[in-house]
Amino acid sequence: MKAGIEHSTDVLVIGSGAAGLTLALKLAKQCRVTVVAKGNLAEGSTYYAQGGIAAVFDEDDTVESHVEDTLIAGAGLCDRQAVQFTAQEARAALEWLIRKGVDFDEEEHDGESRYHLTREGGHSHRRILHAADATGKEVQLTLEEQAHRHPNIALLERYNAVDLITTTKLGLAGDKRVVGAYVWNRSQEHVETIRARFVVLATGGASKVYQYTSNPDVASGDGIAMAWRAGCRVANMEFNQFHPTCLYHTEARNFLLTEALRGEGALLKRPDGSRFMPDFDPREELAPRDVVARAIDFEMKRLGADCMFLDISHKDPAFVTKHFPTIYQRCLDLGIDITRQPIPVVPAAHYTCGGVMTDLDGKTDIDGLYAVGEVAYTGLHGANRMASNSLLECLVFARAAARSIFAQLDSTELLDTIPDWDESQVTDSDEHVVIAHNWHELRLFMWDYVGIVRTDKRLQRALRRVEMLKTEIHDYYSDFKISNDLLELRNLVQIAELIIRCAMSRKESRGLHYTLDYPEQQPEPTPSILTPDP
Ligand SMILES: Cc1cc2nc3c(=O)[nH]c(=O)nc-3n(C[C@H](O)[C@H](O)[C@H](O)COP(=O)(O)OP(=O)(O)OC[C@H]3O[C@@H](n4cnc5c(N)ncnc54)[C@H](O)[C@@H]3O)c2cc1C
Repeated sequence: MKAGIEHSTDVLVIGSGAAGLTLALKLAKQCRVTVVAKGNLAEGSTYYAQGGIAAVFDEDDTVESHVEDTLIAGAGLCDRQAVQFTAQEARAALEWLIRKGVDFDEEEHDGESRYHLTREGGHSHRRILHAADATGKEVQLTLEEQAHRHPNIALLERYNAVDLITTTKLGLAGDKRVVGAYVWNRSQEHVETIRARFVVLATGGASKVYQYTSNPDVASGDGIAMAWRAGCRVANMEFNQFHPTCLYHTEARNFLLTEALRGEGALLKRPDGSRFMPDFDPREELAPRDVVARAIDFEMKRLGADCMFLDISHKDPAFVTKHFPTIYQRCLDLGIDITRQPIPVVPAAHYTCGGVMTDLDGKTDIDGLYAVGEVAYTGLHGANRMASNSLLECLVFARAAARSIFAQLDSTELLDTIPDWDESQVTDSDEHVVIAHNWHELRLFMWDYVGIVRTDKRLQRALRRVEMLKTEIHDYYSDFKISNDLLELRNLVQIAELIIRCAMSRKESRGLHYTLDYPEQQPEPTPSILTPDP
């Protein structure tokens, strides 16, 4: 086992999705940036985003309207300043992406070419720029290509950040400041140290804490757990968005069916072919995601059905295949021709609205530490994220964080040395079954007790189990050498606890948090903020 490998950089970016790569590219002219990613660079939610990115491009649309729609979707819990800031900065952020080479779909209008804007749930205008139904892939691959070409950006794949290193942890005097991170080199199976003047968490969300999720495997909330352990506040962890329509098929693990399908006229149906959304909300299929997810959950439980159905077969097949080529092909491969048949769907954990608390520059509670993208709680989403605002948040806040870091670069020193990771007390595990079992148990009770519909009793039950698992996993972590599964499990159990504690503190139903014990809303909404013990 090697020890003592140390890297140094100006800015360490943990995560290579839209947030991490945007920030790296914005800073690389001025300083050295190191980006670490748990798997391949592309393996994150960004790559899988289908629908698009919201910004005001239509002349009939306004920033005020984007703000109002976001505030309504957020169910009274958005931070107005964060919403205003994001909507205002949106167009410039998108234009930057376009300059980097992202190829959004265009259409002919009065002999001129302009961006094709689609519409999604909660938006009162067409304002979603997209690249067919694979927007995330286009964004991710374009940013990666740019990052690969940049001499000031070092890209380290298959490196898991394990924990942040702060001055306090090292016993140094003065205000707590982040000075680097320990990272596990998955290929070589040893822990290395990265010293940095600034560290940015761009690790994405935590939806993997649930049994069913639309997210890729890397979405285990590592950044939120690391920040919490280092001493940052987190907020609004009870607001998990469940995407209403993931493909229900034994051979496809939660393939997502973009909301744009409903935007373009797809209808939700029971197994007998009857529609049900008109019974739940006047906006019908265009109601916000939480309303649609709860309606599907309700109908499934009421009828004892395994799934509901999404039907776009009444539309012109040429329109369907042109606008949704990826979905069309994926379903066809599984024997479902969406131009002729309805698609079986179930809800799945999709987006983490809460996270590490930051200001409008992406700054956390610890000096030098930033959090950008799905890992962060900026106040933009409130109690519910509006579709296509999340990639936008990655871009807008990465640009703001880059400006903030740039302004402090000259006045911030790199720490000379950091002690190596100590592995002298641990041995190889002889009981991998413990990890596998705890993984399964955690994600299942989170689904059953802390899912789409909650009660006090279910939350208490879940908390008791989390406390037990936490102790067991902590003991295991102290005794055995680390692995990807162990690192993720340690983080996920922490995430589960944060979600449950936030959910228990909210004595109302609001946005994505729905509890049978408190079906009404409180008159004065406040975010649920958790502060770690000093
Ligand atoms: C199927 C799907 C469809 C979506 N569609 C849309 C859409 O149409 N529009 C929209 O706005 N949003 C959409 N979203 C949400 C959006 O894609 C995400 O919120 C956004 O991409 C998050 O970007 P990010 O940069 O914060 O994180 P990600 O893109 O998830 O990247 C996270 C990065 O962090 C790395 N990482 C994590 N932990 C560690 C660690 N411990 N050490 C090192 N690296 C680590 C990962 O390897 C990865 O590189 C969708 C999400 C999904 C899953």
